[in-house]
Amino acid sequence: MKKMIAAALTGIMVVSLAAAVSAEDGTLVMATNAEFPPYEYHEGDEIVGIDAEVAALVAEELGLELKIEDMSFDSVLAAVQSGKADIAMAGITVTEDRKQVVNFSDTYMKATQMIIVAEDSEIAGPDDLVGKTIGVQLGTTGDIYVEDVEDATVERFSKGFEAVQALIQGKVDAVVIDGEPAKVFVQENEGIKLLDDPFTEEEYAIAIAKDNEELLTQVNDALADLKESGKFDEIVDKYIGDNADEAESETEA
Ligand code: GLN
Repeated sequence: MKKMIAAALTGIMVVSLAAAVSAEDGTLVMATNAEFPPYEYHEGDEIVGIDAEVAALVAEELGLELKIEDMSFDSVLAAVQSGKADIAMAGITVTEDRKQVVNFSDTYMKATQMIIVAEDSEIAGPDDLVGKTIGVQLGTTGDIYVEDVEDATVERFSKGFEAVQALIQGKVDAVVIDGEPAKVFVQENEGIKLLDDPFTEEEYAIAIAKDNEELLTQVNDALADLKESGKFDEIVDKYIGDNADEAESETEA
């Protein structure tokens, strides 16, 4: 109740909250593909990871409860476009094409597409991908950008891990996938390695429906608050930084 009174004093906030929120049930619905460690992945019955935790805090700042809808990566933008979800957060790279269909929040992470190959592979960098068979996750920037590799055959998988399995089985010559999941997959599997040179450099942001400008503003404000308070960095450190081992060993358990 006190919160409501406080909000009433700042009249503008009340108006924008009321407009943006999926107010009927007080939830913020997030579309994701929980096959993307350390950003979103299953741990027992739960979906955890950087995106899941940041989204929970963003929801909290908006006075909402986070509800995560797990789906294939190539459905997450459509989910926000259709209103099935309020936000999509799935290590989503900002691209010009995607900007045509959704709004993006301020970017929250720098990312890369990296190349995974067999330990004894002759492929040593992006230029060696010419003419090779490359595994990617369907609809990702890896999928989009390997189209430009000359004479390459692209094998598309619905989960990044399935592409990695195909590599281990010798069905593809390389996998192009986001750097952080690549590190996790290489660490968890024998016989494969990560090449040093990135294939692309990218940035992640939260996707929101074009017609929901209010939510965009609110999400950006919440992100800025989380960065300023240090809470954002705490989450990133837990999964990627010096303390990341803890989170990873939990995953394996
Ligand atoms: N960053 C990549 C993209 O946006 C992959 C994201 C993912 O697989 N979850 O296409």
